[in-house]
Order: sequence, then structure tokens, then C-alpha cells
Amino acid sequence: MSYNWCHGPECHTKETQSRIRGSGRDKVLRTIRIKQGGSYRTHEQYQMFNYFCNQRCLMDFIRTHLTSIVAIAPRREALETPIKVEKAQLKDYYDNPYIRTRITKVDNA
Ligand SMILES: [Zn+2]
Repeated sequence: MSYNWCHGPECHTKETQSRIRGSGRDKVLRTIRIKQGGSYRTHEQYQMFNYFCNQRCLMDFIRTHLTSIVAIAPRREALETPIKVEKAQLKDYYDNPYIRTRITKVDNA
């Protein structure tokens, strides 16, 4: 089984029972160790939690390294998604008219 240490820059300073290590009176707060591919972490949506023990550590990492992270894939111009817009006049439960806007994405593939 392989493990990662949580990448949260402040992880080892959070005062929780699960971080306490050492024997006797002199102990340490240690970074959380994360088992790889455990349960839900195999799902693409949650793979970040193979590297961070919780959302706070993830956000601490992003705040600390934001400039470097954005530099990996800079966005220098806006992206656009082609759509079609249809407007329809409808009536609500009380017979008041309202306009519904319906957006349909255009498949250019
Ligand atoms: Zn952590």
C-alpha cells in the first residue's frame, strides 16, 4: 500500500488527536498520512483527496501556491461556447406572464 503525506502547508500545525505522534511528554503534531486510492478517492472528482487530508489543507495549498498553479495553464483570452437562445413567453401559476430563456449548446464536433 502506498501513501502520500498531506500537501497542506499548515497540516502539521492543526491541533487534532489524529496528528499527535511520539511517546512520553515530548510529542509532535505530524502531517496527516493518506492511503492511496482509498474508497472514494479513486473517483476522478475526488482524486485531490489523495494529496490533501481535507478541503482546508487543499485551500491552504492553493492560497500559498496560487501564482505557480495559474502559471501552469495561463488563460490569456476568453473561451466561448457556441449556443442557441430561444425565448418563450409563458405564464406562471398566477397567470402572470414571464419570459423563459432557453440555452442550447451547439455541437460543432
Ligand atoms: Zn492536511
